[in-house]
Amino acid sequence: MTEIIQEKALHVLIDSLISEGKTVGGPVAGTNHRYMYAKVQSADEMLVNPPAMPMNSIKEFVFPRRETLYTFRYDGKDLSLTDAPAFEETQVLFGVRPCDAVANQILDPLFAWDYNDKFFQSRRERTTVVTLACKTIDDHCFCTSLGFGPESSIGADAMLLDLGNGEYEVRTFTDKGKSLFAGKTEQSDKAGCAAATLEIKFDAQAVTEYLREHFDDPIWSETSLRCVGCGACTYVCPTCHCFDIIEEGNSNAGSRVKTWDTCQFALFTHHASGHNPRRDQSQRQRNRIQHKFRIYPDKFGLILCTGCGNCTRECSTSLGVRPVLQYIAAKAKGLQPAS
Ligand code: SF4
Ligand code: SF4
Repeated sequence: MTEIIQEKALHVLIDSLISEGKTVGGPVAGTNHRYMYAKVQSADEMLVNPPAMPMNSIKEFVFPRRETLYTFRYDGKDLSLTDAPAFEETQVLFGVRPCDAVANQILDPLFAWDYNDKFFQSRRERTTVVTLACKTIDDHCFCTSLGFGPESSIGADAMLLDLGNGEYEVRTFTDKGKSLFAGKTEQSDKAGCAAATLEIKFDAQAVTEYLREHFDDPIWSETSLRCVGCGACTYVCPTCHCFDIIEEGNSNAGSRVKTWDTCQFALFTHHASGHNPRRDQSQRQRNRIQHKFRIYPDKFGLILCTGCGNCTRECSTSLGVRPVLQYIAAKAKGLQPAS
C-alpha cells in the first residue's frame, strides 16, 4: 500500500502552514513562461508541479543573497556591536527538484568545516524539503552522471510522485517529513514513479582524474571562449556558495553584511595592488570546474554539483559546466571532443 494526497488536500496543507505563520515556498510562475522558487502567500500562487524547471534553486532559502551578520554603532569612542537576531522562522518548501534537495546536503560539510556557520545551519534545521520526482527532463539535466536521479531522496524530508488526475503518492524519509504529512494522506494501491529516465552523459570519475593532471592546459581556453563572465551560472547554481562580507552605513553606525559573490567576476580575485591572479575568463572557468570536480571532492568526498543543468540552461551562450565536462570526458578517453 502507498500513501497518497489529493491536490486539494495539498493546497489545504499549504494554506494551513501559511496561516500558522510558517514560511512556505515552491515554484511560482514568472514572466515568459518561466518558473522560479519563491515564498508564497497562498497555495494558489504555487505550481507544485510546473511544466518546466525553475530557473533558480532553493539555495536562497538556506543561504540568502544578502544577510546581516551584526550591526555596529559608535557613541563617541565607545563601540557597540549587536548580533543579528537568530533565524526563528520555520520553512516548508514544496515541489523541489531532487537535484536541489541534494545540494543542501552537499553544502552541509562546507558550512561546518573550519567555522560552524550558524546562519546556514539554523536555516537548514528549520527547513522541511518536499521534493517532486521528475516527470520531465531536458537536454541540460545530467544528475545520473553524478550518481543521483529523478527519484533521488538525498536531502529530501518527503517526496511527491505525480499520479495524474491531481493525486500524488507521498513518500516520507525523515521525522520532519512524517510529521508534515501525518493525518493528511490516505492509503491507496496506486504507486507513482518518476517517468523520466536519463542516460549517463559522461564518466565523472574520469573527469576528476583528468583535472588532477591538467591544471595548466589548453582545454581552459578552448572551452571558455564563449563565456562573458556574467556570473549568472553561479547565481542559479544550488551548490555555488561564494560570498563577500561588506560594511554598509557610515563611520558612526552600520552593519556587516554577507552577500553572494562569484568566482566568475574579474573583481573576485582582484588585489588592492592591481594584480589579479586569475587574469582572464579561462582561468576563472578553470577555477569553477576544478573546485567542483576535484578540490571539493578531495576535501569533503563529494562532487560540488548535482547535475541540475541550471548553469547551462540559464547561460546566455549555453555554456555552464555540462559542455565543459563532456569535453573533458572525451579528452580523458583520448577522443577529439566536439567544440
Ligand atoms: S558560463 Fe555562461 S552564465 Fe557562466 S559566467 Fe560564463 S557566460 Fe555567464
Ligand atoms: S554547476 Fe551547474 S549543473 Fe552543477 S549544480 Fe551548479 S548549476 Fe547545477
